[in-house]
Amino acid sequence: MTMTDSIPLQAITFDLDDTLWDNHGVMVATETGHYAWLDEALHEWMTGEGRSATQRFAERFPLESFEQHRRALARAHPLRRGDFTWLRERALREMLGEYGIDPAAAEQWAGAAMERFMALRHRVEPHPEVEALLTALGRHYRLASITNGNVEIARLPLGRHFSIAIAAGEMLAPKPDPRPFLAALARLGVAPNRALHVGDSWREDVEPARRLGMQVAWISPHIDDTPLPAGIHRLDHVREIPALLRRLGQKAPQ
Ligand SMILES: [Mg+2]
Repeated sequence: MTMTDSIPLQAITFDLDDTLWDNHGVMVATETGHYAWLDEALHEWMTGEGRSATQRFAERFPLESFEQHRRALARAHPLRRGDFTWLRERALREMLGEYGIDPAAAEQWAGAAMERFMALRHRVEPHPEVEALLTALGRHYRLASITNGNVEIARLPLGRHFSIAIAAGEMLAPKPDPRPFLAALARLGVAPNRALHVGDSWREDVEPARRLGMQVAWISPHIDDTPLPAGIHRLDHVREIPALLRRLGQKAPQ
């Protein structure tokens, strides 16, 4: 154990996607689900209005072209590149406009599709151990979430564990920008070396948190015995946090 390790920790910050739950399946279901909903609802509406389009919306703009559209928007608006909600809604509005929908209706349809998106996006299933883990950690540490994604933790039952929730994309400063970490630490009232950050991304979680002087738990289930720099601790799963805290000489739930 190093000297740094034994400074008492006061706070733990958590990445969300692929740290507290597996994100891939829910993203695929959300992406295809809201787009199919828009295509179907738009088709019914246009038929009801007596407007027959030669091509359905999703034929004219397959899912891949939606993604290309978002990437082009992100390049054209670099400050917004991490604000996925904005990029999605804007891309939908522009594509609906190109499809011949007037601007007011395009705005409404894009808004409705985004509501559908957000409802599906929040069907995440946290790892079964997470609820008890956060309850136990919350007795010893202040907890915050820091995400680049568009899950609003307050919409999930888990949200009650986090007094502070940082949406880095909406701050226009997605990780690895240090600002979302600094915002969390400031609001926690904790110095960086008194906090542990838990996340799965080397580039977006581990590097920026460590550079600020935080301890880092890197959730990386790939078996790899490469020695890591001091202050970075590799775990297979978030459930191993209490054992890590014990190894670091910190307060830990039993
Ligand atoms: Mg993540």
